[in-house]
Amino acid sequence: MKNIILTGDRPTGKLHIGHFVGSLRSRIKLQNEGNYEKFYVMIADAQALTDNFDNIDKVKNNILEVALDYLACGLDPNKVTFFIQSEISELTEFTFYYMNLVTLSRLQRNPTVKTEINQKEFGKSIPTGFLCYPISQAADITAFNANLIPVGDDQLPMIEQTREIVRSFNSVYKCDLLVEPKEILPENKTCFRLPGTDGKAKMSKSLGNCIYISDEESVLKQKVYSMYTDPNHIKVSDPGNVEGNVVFIYLDAFCEDKYFEKYLPEYKNLDELKAHYTRGGLGDMKIKNFLFNILNDVLTPIRERRKELAKEPEKIFEILFKGSDEAKVVAKTNLLKLKKAIGIDYRSYFKK
Ligand code: ATP
Ligand code: MG
Repeated sequence: MKNIILTGDRPTGKLHIGHFVGSLRSRIKLQNEGNYEKFYVMIADAQALTDNFDNIDKVKNNILEVALDYLACGLDPNKVTFFIQSEISELTEFTFYYMNLVTLSRLQRNPTVKTEINQKEFGKSIPTGFLCYPISQAADITAFNANLIPVGDDQLPMIEQTREIVRSFNSVYKCDLLVEPKEILPENKTCFRLPGTDGKAKMSKSLGNCIYISDEESVLKQKVYSMYTDPNHIKVSDPGNVEGNVVFIYLDAFCEDKYFEKYLPEYKNLDELKAHYTRGGLGDMKIKNFLFNILNDVLTPIRERRKELAKEPEKIFEILFKGSDEAKVVAKTNLLKLKKAIGIDYRSYFKK
């Protein structure tokens, strides 16, 4: 079987470097390896509405921002089909049929959703749509028969939920229509879930602790310089801790030996730098400056490409609409198969 890859992001803000290391980098690698039949990238506006239903402007305006981030990072519309989730109304139908296969308590047990419910302080007023968004993710995946899903580790419970729905559907309706998807996690463990600049567990658009891919150089510098390090590393001579130290975590995600040659030739690699920090005598300013230089090297060409692309927003929407039209045809065909498997394809009963 040839692979069908599907991934996506919620248009709740511009994309940040957590997205870059957590999923964009592997998407671009997969795209260029070419080992797939179809590669879909979805802008999940309908899912974003589940916790932003009263903030339409945020969701609407960020569709373009996310698309610009994709293209600037190197996702190629000649290889990838981009689409906007709400354009594919069939996805809502998939979701509706799957809702019968998932219990309320199963949804309440989803660890990512649980964390998000606490963060968003919903209390007892959890919107049903929000609680059910893992079901809609199963719809997004199965509507295109996707089998490979590049994600960060916060998405693992969603992929597991999708596999359960697939098994349940195939068993209840005695068929083998749906395919169980597999996640693709980043190769580097640090990138599974990049923490925020404040040291919080996850860099997230909704938590305001992000370095955005599009941040200007001066903003990037200011964010790196005010980053959380080791609170006990006060004097340069103090021994420092690299564990939980955001600067070193980001270095783990971005550093390559070539950057030492260019910016810190007195060290060969990250292990040497970490050893010096741990024994004392290495100041925070020096490591922050190094990190800034690396991030700036990675992000400058992306930032420049993005500015060019942003001059013609209508061209970006053209790409999104063309992809949405293409995706709709596929979802429509697969919805008919789904209804046939359930047994509610009434019209076909009377066809000769
Ligand atoms: P929101 O706060 O609105 O949920 P988000 O920052 O969590 O936004 P999403 O659009 O929900 O971003 O996530 C899109 C993809 O990026 C998912 O595959 C997710 O696992 C990955 N991702 C998001 N944040 C990180 C992170 N900090 N580290 C690694 N991967 C991440
Ligand atoms: Mg999220």
